[in-house]
Amino acid sequence: MKKLSKKGLILLLSLMLVLGSLSGCANDTTPTTEASTTAETTVAEGGVHYNAGTYTGKAEGKEGVIEVSVTFSEDKIESIEIVSQTETAGIGAEAIERLKSDIVAYQSLGLDAVSGASETSEALLMAVSEAVKAAGGDVDALKAVAIEKSNAGVTETLEADIVVIGAGASGVSAAVSAADEGKKVILVEKTATVGGASNLSWAGKFYNSSASVAAGLNIAVEDEIANWIVNNHWRVDASAIRQYVVKSGETYDWLNEKGYTTTFINFFGEPLHMLPAYETRQGLLRNMISDSVEANGGQLLTETTGKSLVTDADGNITGAICEKADGTVLEIKANAVILATGGYAANAEMVKELFGFEGVNGGLGQNVGEGLEMAWAIGAKVPDNIGGQMLHQTLASATADLKKSYESFEASYPLMLTYLPTFMNVGPSGARFRDEAATLTAVAAANTSAFNGPYHYVIVSKSQIDALMASGMTGVGATRLPGMPPEFYADFAAQFTLDTPWADAYAVFDQMVANGDGFKGDTPEALAENAGMDAEVFAAAFNQYQEAINTGVDTSFGKSADYLLSMGETGPYYAIKAEINNLGSVGGLLVNSRFQVLNDNRIPIKGLYAVGLESEGVLFNDTYVGNGVGIGYSFTSGRLGGTFAAEDLK
Ligand SMILES: Cc1cc2nc3c(=O)[nH]c(=O)nc-3n(C[C@H](O)[C@H](O)[C@H](O)COP(=O)(O)OP(=O)(O)OC[C@H]3O[C@@H](n4cnc5c(N)ncnc54)[C@H](O)[C@@H]3O)c2cc1C
Repeated sequence: MKKLSKKGLILLLSLMLVLGSLSGCANDTTPTTEASTTAETTVAEGGVHYNAGTYTGKAEGKEGVIEVSVTFSEDKIESIEIVSQTETAGIGAEAIERLKSDIVAYQSLGLDAVSGASETSEALLMAVSEAVKAAGGDVDALKAVAIEKSNAGVTETLEADIVVIGAGASGVSAAVSAADEGKKVILVEKTATVGGASNLSWAGKFYNSSASVAAGLNIAVEDEIANWIVNNHWRVDASAIRQYVVKSGETYDWLNEKGYTTTFINFFGEPLHMLPAYETRQGLLRNMISDSVEANGGQLLTETTGKSLVTDADGNITGAICEKADGTVLEIKANAVILATGGYAANAEMVKELFGFEGVNGGLGQNVGEGLEMAWAIGAKVPDNIGGQMLHQTLASATADLKKSYESFEASYPLMLTYLPTFMNVGPSGARFRDEAATLTAVAAANTSAFNGPYHYVIVSKSQIDALMASGMTGVGATRLPGMPPEFYADFAAQFTLDTPWADAYAVFDQMVANGDGFKGDTPEALAENAGMDAEVFAAAFNQYQEAINTGVDTSFGKSADYLLSMGETGPYYAIKAEINNLGSVGGLLVNSRFQVLNDNRIPIKGLYAVGLESEGVLFNDTYVGNGVGIGYSFTSGRLGGTFAAEDLK
């Protein structure tokens, strides 16, 4: 645990003196409606003052409400208990534990958000602030208690054969496979969590795994490779695709042997493998690290950020500079560095500059491109196809706020409609832009929308809402459930059927409009105006779509008559805002099939490797077109990249 530095302590003591003169004000604070007390009120003399006792506070986190119960003495926050929270296991939940002990240790609300869990961190700080207010404490004063990194200015030197930077699926795999080759590996991870985006993922594609073949799904490898290359317009590395398709099946066995057991499913002919139960994943990866990396003399350093690469006079890698959360600078000497930092999707400026896209980052908040910058700084090539993203489905922006007023099933009405093909979709201008059957395929859904801007609208009419209220999704022609990942409907699985009637649908859609996540109009013209669409453009699209419905022939996009559902004759009409979900950036470093990073002359930089998303641009042209490839490739590239790096050192 971090300790308050000498300077920090002096600052805190001075602040306490200043606060002493303000103690009357602090005690005037009254509890808000969000907070309640179980304590008797007492008033302290001088210093920071609380009305000793236990108080609760709440705030909306990333996945739901976080409620805390905070115990105060007259001059101290004594302890914080988490009453309830539903944040993501292994990411948000860990951030809560970290922050709650730091608040008590530093007696401060001026703490930085935990890397990778900023929304959760802010919510926890807000919930504790509510309790502080209820206890008569001064939130602003606590926010002003500056925290100085206790080891700022301290430098340590470490040595290893290989440093792996980033402990997502690819980094952990690389570290483990290199250690299994007998190398001493230091695995460096920015957050307190290992597993990265794999902790949030559903399934990976391992071609012709032993489980897939045993279940009778045997993919024709040569056809698969040939189609992949054509579908990406030949602007890909054919040997990298071949290596992934041919070698990924072995990754399934490798993971199973290491205790990270995945479960094969035949997903409409695709060999997907579901990852272990969410809450077990991090523990399983940590076991792999301890059995291989630590058993071979290496170590895992969490809350440590890779900062720069070190090279000799010839440009060969000699180590990496990293920084621990307490400010300690680590100079790690090593003959090879494997970058596995997951790309830059959380860096909005980079995504806009390289892809021209301003959509939502559905990936990890800490992936801001540091690994790429480190490599580019020592001469790594910026690939010609830089900019590709992992766009995956579109999501209604309404869901989170609706959950404050409704149960998850009702709050998910707009979301479910974004996944169904029977509704008219238009871009921000009001122009229809696709055969809405694209919503049935995750990458098609996202990329067709992205071509028209960062969001689109799903148009729903009165007659369609009436049908949903009467007979659920069957009423609007759905023959299969929206293809949402299971975690989206886990808390309303019993209602997630085609024929569950959608009670209160008008009220929910009206609330969506009131929350600013959609629009309403009694006529198509009014809807266009309220949504800021061009009236003429929307009118033309609407009329053409009505003609397609009436004739059963969609001359604009060729949508099947099966999906051309009547919109009735009268309003109201609603426009649901659907935003593109970007799961990560793809590529950024050009690698050869040994995962060596290439320089501007396409020659390997000796000792530098990249695996996972940052090397994945070799598989795709301008954007990701895959299902399960993200996970399949991360584990496979890590497993192979770690082995190659170790072999190259022999
Ligand atoms: C919500 C979500 C759902 C997904 N679902 C699926 C799915 O079902 N199937 C599928 O195939 N793919 C899915 N994906 C994509 C898949 O998860 C990723 O492609 C894959 O996990 C990427 O692995 P990685 O190791 O390359 O990167 P990451 O998992 O992003 O790991 C990178 C790690 O590096 C760390 N890091 C970053 N910067 C630094 C630094 N400077 N120093 C040290 N550490 C650093 C990060 O904290 C992180 O732990 C999903 C992605 C998301 C976000």
